[in-house]
Amino acid sequence: MSWETIRKDPATRAAAAMPDPDAERARFTWEAARARLSGLPGGGLNIAHEAVDRHVAEGHGGEVAIRWLGRDGARREITYAGLAGDAARFAGVLAARGFGPGTRVFSLLGRVPALYAAALGTLKAGMTFTPLFAAFGPEPIRARMEIGGAEVLVTTAALWRRKLADWAGGLPSLRLVLIADGEEAEVPAGCTALAPAMAAAPERFPTHPTGPEDMALIHFTSGTTGRPKGAVHVHAAVIAHAATGRFALDLRPGDIYWCTADPGWVTGTSYGIIAPLANRVTMVVDEAEFDVRRWYGILAAERVTVFYTAPTAIRMLMRAGRDAAQGHDFSALRFLASVGEPLNPEAVVWGAQVLGRPFHDNWWQTETGGIMIANTAAGDIRPGSMGRPLPGVTAAIVARDEDGTVRECAAGAIGELALRPGWPSMMRAYLHEEARYARCFAGGWYLSGDLALRDADGYFWFVGRADDLIKSSGHLIGPFEVESALIEHPAVAEAAVIGLPDEAAGEIVKAYVALKPGFAPSEALEREIRGHARRRLGPAVAPREIAFRQSLPKTRSGKIMRRLLKARELGLPEGDTSTLEADER
Ligand code: ATP
Ligand code: MG
Repeated sequence: MSWETIRKDPATRAAAAMPDPDAERARFTWEAARARLSGLPGGGLNIAHEAVDRHVAEGHGGEVAIRWLGRDGARREITYAGLAGDAARFAGVLAARGFGPGTRVFSLLGRVPALYAAALGTLKAGMTFTPLFAAFGPEPIRARMEIGGAEVLVTTAALWRRKLADWAGGLPSLRLVLIADGEEAEVPAGCTALAPAMAAAPERFPTHPTGPEDMALIHFTSGTTGRPKGAVHVHAAVIAHAATGRFALDLRPGDIYWCTADPGWVTGTSYGIIAPLANRVTMVVDEAEFDVRRWYGILAAERVTVFYTAPTAIRMLMRAGRDAAQGHDFSALRFLASVGEPLNPEAVVWGAQVLGRPFHDNWWQTETGGIMIANTAAGDIRPGSMGRPLPGVTAAIVARDEDGTVRECAAGAIGELALRPGWPSMMRAYLHEEARYARCFAGGWYLSGDLALRDADGYFWFVGRADDLIKSSGHLIGPFEVESALIEHPAVAEAAVIGLPDEAAGEIVKAYVALKPGFAPSEALEREIRGHARRRLGPAVAPREIAFRQSLPKTRSGKIMRRLLKARELGLPEGDTSTLEADER
């Protein structure tokens, strides 16, 4: 890689929440991480208790937990004590209607205060919480509520009418629909208004004495590679959320933290609710969708210190050009991180140039429940690398031999990214899919389905999804490497790369490219971009064909769906497209 390592100076290292990653790794145990939490009397563990009640009990109830920014300019601050009260009332609303531990509670909400009360209240009552993307259409909502056996749904009047009213009566498990709009909303027939019910509920609710292995969350995967799976997580996950929030996001009490993930995605819960609250930060919650000016405005005006976002958003900021960032004061920013897709080295460096800090890429999955591999605040960054395993995480690159045995690969070799099971936020099941779950494990490893390599210094480099690897004339080509080279070209905003069958080469590399504003597709530009890629990657790896697209197909969580481009190119069935952004379908 031609990108230079970004070295952290001694002052930055010393100031980090984890100043010496190697020393921390050597002494770290998950038992010790658990001991930092408060726990429940009698040995129990409950996520909501660690996220809010504990802080109130320790005298921090007056600190701000959520600084909510409404779409229309409204602004509301919710303290830890306030949030604890809201969660208790939500739990009380459900208990008063006969629901008890184990109840499956679903949310279909944007970033509104009721979401946080619902998530934490559900967990406090020992019930199981599942968030859904508010932007989903009726079909993906129905499929997930059916698989998850939803008993309670929290949503808005408009979402209910538009997406559920027609069919949800036929869902046998569903017994209560709570409408979270303000009191002025007209409540649809058969539904219950949440605000008055909460106002009538007591301010206190005894936290259910959940054990660490009790079910807490069901998260559906993004569906990038196929039909989404329901990953089951338990209350012990909070041990990992709290620890990785410190290690990978550098969170500490008093931080102003902004996680832009949608609440319907695992990041929106693990790092949009649990990890930040467990670390007693103030979370900025913006109700609105992505908007370049709004985002720069929030980063500056709210004095955000830690920012956690996704490559697709970073590429959109980059696409808008540097001028858009002019005139804003980003001096409060201390740490920037990214997750969800490979982060192009270009984007890491752009962060340093435009926001004053480099982006720190980290890697995890719905299944792992929390961050596993990361570029940390004290660690040097190798742009394009996902970083190194966090303390408590053992990661390796493995290959499966023909007889099924799993062996570790040497440094530099491409193989499947594998983790040694045992960290607390690991999924405990795929709902109703035992065989699929069992297939994730072999030879004492959890196999992630992602291909990567580890360099001699222990940094991990993402190569692609196992299904996306391209084999061309004897070369193994990871789409990410090609995409990163393409977006270095000044005209290219985003790129997706796939392999197409070819008689001579086995497969040839094809790229889809979305251009930055001010550039128009042309044969000359295609030639120029191909030439750039050839110089950068060599003729064997550079794309043979480039097609221009207005935009690339993405899941709701912003991940490029290469399998769909390939299916369309080859005229094959498209598979599950329910998680696709609607305008791409
Ligand atoms: P499905 O499993 O249903 O196809 P998905 O894998 O996209 O969906 P998630 O669990 O939301 O669902 O995404 C995790 C995946 O996202 C990882 O396995 C990896 O492929 C990709 N990913 C996440 N972070 C990174 C990263 N920093 N670099 C590269 N890829 C990443
Ligand atoms: Mg996956």
